[in-house]
Amino acid sequence: MKVGGRKLARVNCRVTPEPQEGTRSIYRKDSSKIEPFIVGRGDVDYICGKCNNIIAKNVSQGQIAADAVFQCPNCQSFNEVE
Ligand SMILES: [Zn+2]
Repeated sequence: MKVGGRKLARVNCRVTPEPQEGTRSIYRKDSSKIEPFIVGRGDVDYICGKCNNIIAKNVSQGQIAADAVFQCPNCQSFNEVE
């Protein structure tokens, strides 16, 4: 039996308008440092739907809460995971 190798997937987030206060969990960076919000041990990278900056690196599919919105530290757009 052949065991499939783990393939690193790259998933584009969906750019969304700024959510209303209190409706979503918004993650933003306090510093201007451009780095992923989450670094895990999975095999999926989530990238900004606008500028391709890495939002979450090596996470597992489904690890990110559906109500999470990430403000890209590079282009300031709001990204959600589909
Ligand atoms: Zn961006």
